[in-house]
Amino acid sequence: MKAAHYVGGGFRTDGAAFALVDPVDGRRVGDVPEATRQIVDEAVRAARAALEDGWGRTGATERAAALRRIADGIQARFDEFVDAEVADTGKPRELAATVDIPRAIGNFRAYADLLYGRPERAYTTDVPGWSATPGAGTGQALNYSVRRPLGVVAIISPWNLPLLLLTWKVAPALAAGNAVVAKPSEETPSTATLLASVIDQAGLPDGVFNLVHGHGTDAAGEWLTRHPGVDAIAFTGESATGAAIMRNAADHITPVSFELGGKNPALIFADADLDAALDGTVRSCFTHSGQICLCTERVYVERPVFEEFVAALGERARALEGYGPMISAQHRDKVLSYYRLAVEEGATVVAGGGVPTFGDDRDNGFHVEPTVLTGLPETARLVREEVFGPVCHVAPFDTEDEAVRLANDSPYGLAATVWTRDLSRAHRVAPRVETGIVWVNCWNLRDLRTPFGGVKASGIGREGGEYSLDFFSEPVNVCIQI
Ligand code: NAD
Repeated sequence: MKAAHYVGGGFRTDGAAFALVDPVDGRRVGDVPEATRQIVDEAVRAARAALEDGWGRTGATERAAALRRIADGIQARFDEFVDAEVADTGKPRELAATVDIPRAIGNFRAYADLLYGRPERAYTTDVPGWSATPGAGTGQALNYSVRRPLGVVAIISPWNLPLLLLTWKVAPALAAGNAVVAKPSEETPSTATLLASVIDQAGLPDGVFNLVHGHGTDAAGEWLTRHPGVDAIAFTGESATGAAIMRNAADHITPVSFELGGKNPALIFADADLDAALDGTVRSCFTHSGQICLCTERVYVERPVFEEFVAALGERARALEGYGPMISAQHRDKVLSYYRLAVEEGATVVAGGGVPTFGDDRDNGFHVEPTVLTGLPETARLVREEVFGPVCHVAPFDTEDEAVRLANDSPYGLAATVWTRDLSRAHRVAPRVETGIVWVNCWNLRDLRTPFGGVKASGIGREGGEYSLDFFSEPVNVCIQI
């Protein structure tokens, strides 16, 4: 399906367009319409009208049923979604078919179920003396809180897990009774357009979900997040983009939920099951060619097993096959510039460090080699900055305290892994690591009800289960004197 805006229940492709490029071989494969300021404005107005028409007052049963129809609609067109995700991102088909699209379906099903787990709270029936206000009396009151949708929600998503991360916000936003204007990444417009088609067929009222395509700065993303008609912004992307959005959101005091970048550490203790730690670290460094926000880019290994682990990790990195490209020529160039910089900064290249050759059309695409580096100081840019590619730097540590200090010496704080067989150590270390998520002896094992998000430059707020529903709604206290 050709990329199209979806505004007020209608598809449109008017206006200027930009090229959609296949990252596997660099071919131009289509055009994407670039939303004008007016199209963004119409989308926000359509969303407001849908709320006023009653969507914001629908009951949980109706909204849950709508979410299930959307999940069923994606399921019914599963292969079409997989094809579109693979075409836009170049990721291995298996990844799209086992992670991206099933998780998108799961996001809608999870929030349909979670809607029934939210009884409203009545939390006191007796005003205590210390909270009495002169003139208002004391005595008995019934206080209860109800949750009200925020209104029109702007959702801005990145290119790495396009449908998964878009639906991770759209599902709870709709579940909570909001109307949505979504802007997917300009690199990956296709599954978002298919989602709009599914939502259209699922019979949601016009304007409840709107989709605009386009770029970020001085384009659809910025116009949407600056728009006075937007009541909240949920954004996933780079920390620097988050900062720009926050500055724009400040004009209207628009609440934000941010899932941003990371520079995620792995701590591998000598007592770990080293085969499991190696398998897990290969996955956490190189899945989707390192283009997942949760991917490991800093590996710290306890000294007695350091040499053995580095050699094995290098061997596994060199043996990787069938990995996908970087999303764009620009991103490939950025990753390669970090590879070069690391060498200039004094790194030892254990594996990779360059561009693979295939002898076919893929040589015109945006591939880089899975890369393992050692020998850099902690001050090196490659150790401090997010690369967002298939690269990790491995360094030794001697004590538990040192491992925690190294993990925490970062402007970011999204996710960490800890590999150890010592249960006490796992419980000691995990809460000391300054990230929003710590995985012990696993990576990316996800229960959608648990809090998901980062600290420091990695984000503001938490998503997942009740946490997303809390962001996308406002508690209103009702006090009745009795
Ligand atoms: P990006 O910040 O470049 O773009 C993300 C989205 O923001 C795109 O839709 C883009 O058009 C839009 N945008 C750009 N500038 C904007 C502006 N000024 N105003 C409004 N919108 C704007 O990020 P990306 O390159 O698409 O994604 C990769 C980044 O996302 C990495 O840093 C990665 O760590 C992060 N990420 C984080 C998570 C998480 O859950 N924490 C998940 C996935 C990706």
